[in-house]
Amino acid sequence: MGAVPVAIDIAVSQGVAVLGLLERSQVPPVPTFYRLLYDYVADVRSPAGARVAQIVTDGKQVGARLYSEFVAPYENDETLALTVARITARLSALDVLIGERVEASRTHSAQLSGVASTLVATRLDAGLMLDLIGRLELANAQVAKTHEQLRDELETAAIELDKTRSELEMLRTGGRLDPLTGLANRGALDEELARAVEQSRMDGAQLSYSALDIDNFKSLNDNYGHQVGDEILRIAARALLASTRQADLTARIGGDEFAAILPGTDLATARHTAERIRRAIMDSDLRGVLGKGVLGGVTVSIGTATFRPGDTVASLMERADRCLYEAKRQGRNRVICEGEIGALTDA
Ligand code: GH3
Ligand code: MG
Repeated sequence: MGAVPVAIDIAVSQGVAVLGLLERSQVPPVPTFYRLLYDYVADVRSPAGARVAQIVTDGKQVGARLYSEFVAPYENDETLALTVARITARLSALDVLIGERVEASRTHSAQLSGVASTLVATRLDAGLMLDLIGRLELANAQVAKTHEQLRDELETAAIELDKTRSELEMLRTGGRLDPLTGLANRGALDEELARAVEQSRMDGAQLSYSALDIDNFKSLNDNYGHQVGDEILRIAARALLASTRQADLTARIGGDEFAAILPGTDLATARHTAERIRRAIMDSDLRGVLGKGVLGGVTVSIGTATFRPGDTVASLMERADRCLYEAKRQGRNRVICEGEIGALTDA
C-alpha cells in the first residue's frame, strides 16, 4: 500500500467515520447529511460546521434538526437543487468507489495471504515464483486502478463542494433571499417595490401592496419552541407563495412579517388575493409540527393598499401598515383594505 496517497486513506477513513456517525446519530444516510457530516469529521472550519458540531454533540433529534437548518430552507431554490443534484451524483459515485476500494483491498489481502501460504507450503521453484509474482502484479494493478478513480472522484467532489459553498454564500450575501423561508428578503422587496412604484408613476399602471403579520406568534414560540416557530414561518411562506401569481413578489421582511407586491392589480382584486392568502395560512396543516391533537391553526392579519398618483414607496407601505394595524386592532385574522377605515382616505 506504499504507493497509495495518504490523502485517500484519510478520506476513506473519514468517509467510514461519517457513515458511523450517521448510524449512531440515527440520521438517514442521504448525501446532504453525508456532506455536512463529512465537513464535520474532516474538521472543516465554517460557521455551518460549528453548528453541525453543536447539533451532533447535543445528540437530540439530530436528523430533524440538520434537515430543518440546512436542507429545508433551500429546498425550493432551483440553483441549489441543481447543485445538490450534481453533488448527490458525485457522492453516490464516491460511495461506490469507497466500497470498491474496500473490496479491492480485501481481495488484495486475500491474495497476499494466499501467496504467503503457498510460499510456506511448497518448495520454491522459478515457475512457481513467476506465477506468484504475476498474480501479485495483477492484484496490485486492480487496487491501484481503484485508487486512481477514487482520487479523481475526490478531486471532482471537492471542486463541486467548493462551488456549492460559494453559490450558497452568494445567495446569502447577494442580499436577495431570506434563508429561513426561501422567499425574497427585505432588501429585495424594497428594490422591487421601488421599481414598481416608479413604473406606476410613469404610466399609471395599477399596483397593490399587502403587509402581513402572523397573529400571536410570540405565544406560538413560547408554547412550542423556536424551532416549531421557524417551521410555522416556512409553512406560512409556502401558503403565501401558493396563493399568489407568478408576477407577484412575496417576501419575508422581518420576524413574522411578510409582504406581497401585486403589479397590475386594483384594490378589489388585491383584497381577493389577501383573503385567499389569509385562508390558505389558516387552513395550513400544522399537525406535523404542532402534534396530532392540536386544534386550530395559525392565523394572519393583512393590510392592503393600492397605488395613488403621487405615491412613494414609503407612503404606499405606510397605508398598508396602518391597515394591518387596524386588522390587529379589530381582533386579528382579517384583511383590512384602505378605504375601509375613514382616517386612511386622507392619508
Ligand atoms: P401580533 O398578533 O400582535 O402580531 O402578536 P405577535 O405575538 O405575533 O407579536 P409580534 O408580531 O410583535 O411578534 C413577533 C415575534 O416573532 C417576536 C419574536 O420572538 C418572533 N420571531 C422573530 N423572528 C423570528 C424567527 O426567525 N423565528 C422564530 N421562531 N420567531 C421569530
Ligand atoms: Mg405577529
